Amino acid sequence: KEMGKNTYQFYSIDMNMAHQMSHLNLENALRFALERQQLQLWYQPQFDLATGQLAGLECLIRWRHPQLGLISPLEFIPIAEENGLIIPIGDWVLNEACQCVQRWRQQGFVVPQIAVNLSVRQFRPDLLLSQVTQALQNSGLPAHVLELEVTESLIMTRINEAIAILQQLKQLGVKVAIDDFGTGHSSLSQLKNLPLDTLKIDRSFIEGIPEQADDVVIAETIVILAQKLGLNVVAEGVETQAQMQVLRDMGCACAQGYFYSKPLSAPDMENMLISMAKQ
Ligand code: C2E
Ligand code: CA
Ligand code: CA
Ligand code: CA
Repeated sequence: KEMGKNTYQFYSIDMNMAHQMSHLNLENALRFALERQQLQLWYQPQFDLATGQLAGLECLIRWRHPQLGLISPLEFIPIAEENGLIIPIGDWVLNEACQCVQRWRQQGFVVPQIAVNLSVRQFRPDLLLSQVTQALQNSGLPAHVLELEVTESLIMTRINEAIAILQQLKQLGVKVAIDDFGTGHSSLSQLKNLPLDTLKIDRSFIEGIPEQADDVVIAETIVILAQKLGLNVVAEGVETQAQMQVLRDMGCACAQGYFYSKPLSAPDMENMLISMAKQ
């Protein structure tokens, strides 16, 4: 019994160490990921539901690790936020996205908008404004083409700072979307006072459409709210034709999701732009 207990204790210590090691390894590897060009941006198209035209792209980061393979942003973004690497990574994302899309536009492709996800750590007045200004200058991308996606909880937990930053972004001409809308705790009166452009209906509500009546009601309420506030509205995670049709019929402006396309590597995205231009 004594032995069993000891064995168990060793086992649990080992497991814990293994876990910490892999976190540490991942953290160290992430430091080199940028300079070794292991980070990539993939692009997911968004479509205008009324016209069927391309409305924009959202860029989503990918980490292609030589041994571990493709690592999800859900796994490494939290690590990067913890150790501060999100600052140089976020800077790289902004520059890479602006440059890539500006190149496509110069080649003649119609890409009305590029949406970039922001982390809470990047949402600082001293940092963000200069990063965004630089990325626009370096690429030559017009400011109105860039949309920054921030989560509802980020804005609401730091409402006063957020208002100031959003106003400055507005002056730059950059657009702002609230990501995962409906999952945070927005006060509607505060929402009214924020200089926003777009609400993105969270995938968790789209999932239940058309079967779950409450999800349909929530989606429709967000669509009406956006219309009343004069905002654009995008449904994310649209996977089926039925979902697309219900959203279109309720007046939702735009949609993105596997029904149209999974996120694509830059070369695959370019091929899609080429085939859309031929139609
Ligand atoms: P998000 O901004 O809510 O992005 C949407 C996620 O849903 C993406 O996962 C996308 O691939 C996935 N998705 C899109 N359409 C569908 C669909 O029809 N069905 C399903 N089941 N999923 C769909 P991904 O690429 O793994 O990104 C996860 C999260 O990582 C993002 O959530 C975002 O919060 C974060 N992220 C991604 N790229 C960046 C970045 O460059 N910077 C920062 N700070 N965060 C990022
Ligand atoms: Ca997003
Ligand atoms: Ca989202
Ligand atoms: Ca999400």
